[in-house]
Amino acid sequence: MILYNSASRKREEFVPHDPEHVSMYTCGPTVYHFAHIGNLRSYLMEDILDRYLRYSGYNLKRVMNITDVGHLTSDADEGEDKMLKGAKREHKTVMEIAKFYTDAFFSDCAKLNIRTPDVVEPATNCIDDYIKIITKLMDTGYAYLSGGNVYFDTSKLEKYYIFNDFNEEDLAVGVREGVEEDTNKRNKNDFVLWFTKSKFEDQALKWDSPWGVGYPGWHIECSGISMKHIGEYLDIHCGGIDNAFPHHTNEIAQSESYLGHKWCNYWMHVLHLNTNDGKMSKSKGEFLTVSLLEEKGYDPLSYRFFCLQSHYRKALVFTWENLDNAQLAYNKLIAKIAALKPGDGEIDEAAYSELKAKFTAALDNDINTSLAVTALYDVLKAKTNDATKLYAIDDFDKVLSLDLIKKADAKREELKKQAAAAASEFTVISEDGASVPEVEAKILERRDAKKAKNFALADQIRDDLKALGYEITDIPNGAKYKKI
Ligand code: AMP
Ligand code: ZN
Repeated sequence: MILYNSASRKREEFVPHDPEHVSMYTCGPTVYHFAHIGNLRSYLMEDILDRYLRYSGYNLKRVMNITDVGHLTSDADEGEDKMLKGAKREHKTVMEIAKFYTDAFFSDCAKLNIRTPDVVEPATNCIDDYIKIITKLMDTGYAYLSGGNVYFDTSKLEKYYIFNDFNEEDLAVGVREGVEEDTNKRNKNDFVLWFTKSKFEDQALKWDSPWGVGYPGWHIECSGISMKHIGEYLDIHCGGIDNAFPHHTNEIAQSESYLGHKWCNYWMHVLHLNTNDGKMSKSKGEFLTVSLLEEKGYDPLSYRFFCLQSHYRKALVFTWENLDNAQLAYNKLIAKIAALKPGDGEIDEAAYSELKAKFTAALDNDINTSLAVTALYDVLKAKTNDATKLYAIDDFDKVLSLDLIKKADAKREELKKQAAAAASEFTVISEDGASVPEVEAKILERRDAKKAKNFALADQIRDDLKALGYEITDIPNGAKYKKI
């Protein structure tokens, strides 16, 4: 499999550190608010990588953190504490906020068929792991205490920027974020490993540490949690593109300084989902959530389909019109699959292998989901029997997870019921072409009377109609009438 590695900025053959086991780490949500569908684009594309690795036969262990402490509104350790901000907004405790939005996140993921990683670890569970790493970084001179906080000293590194060649001037924190520069720092890219001096008197969660009572910085949590569950070597680290700097850059700095060797071999970054007026954000106007899509009548899986139609390394623009098109295409796809006849023939292994080769070639090509979707349409067009087509679709859906077979089965059932209903529908026919509403109403009354086994009334109605000059003849599932 070829993966684009944003650390080398090259497409590389994926070779796991241990051929038997693949490890993957995903930066999880900061649980101070609902996830927006942009966040979920990242999780959704990472889910495809997760599922495809398993589909390809790898034994995968995937770990994700839940950020419930330490993430300030600026990723460069400035601004407000996001969790505290959420708690104040909703007049709840930080732990209540964390629980509520963690549950909401997994409920959104379930609606989008995003698998829950094998290990999900809240940041507040691993304080000892961070302290262990920070202690070693202090002992080896990579970290320093200043103004009560522990900072990582980026000047100790030969190479700090991994993912991009920033213009250092552009990165001056005060200028970039419009916030005060932290004068405790020796170098402008130094970052906090442990806070004891919080700007927030009411900081909710604090722990004892060798440097005083406080709480961990945001970046240390991913290094700590990854090493706790995966060990010293990580195969693939994922996240949205905004995480590349400073978050992932800092994760690499502290992890490799701590370990003394390379930590993670492949970095996968998902580009953003944007709206027409720019970046998607939780503070801006209408906040796009899975619930909002549902309220507006969309199937969350049509959003999954929408995301799969484009490559994860391209920015994607969300508009309602784009989602409408995706929903339409998704429904048509289901209808086409529903038109296939289950059990129609034996599985044609040669035809299936050929179809599968196209599908895996697409995903082996840096998880090219849009080509994988094309491979799915190719199944429908293939010259083979329906049983083989359904078998291939079911197989591909282990990765795509669009509930294709389940929805097609439901559609087939619905069509069957509709056909039965149509077949049993009572038809009233005027033999001489001119329909007479009063007569037809009487005929329906007669039908109801017969249904209720009130045959006397049914006969009475027939006589009444005869008196009006109309003759009624019963036909299967209906009646016809004509002027006498
Ligand atoms: P957060 O909960 O803010 O820590 O973000 C969760 C994940 O969503 C991270 O991997 C971010 O990089 C990613 N992310 C944030 N905004 C977007 C966006 N507009 N499109 C795609 N991914 C995003
Ligand atoms: Zn992270």
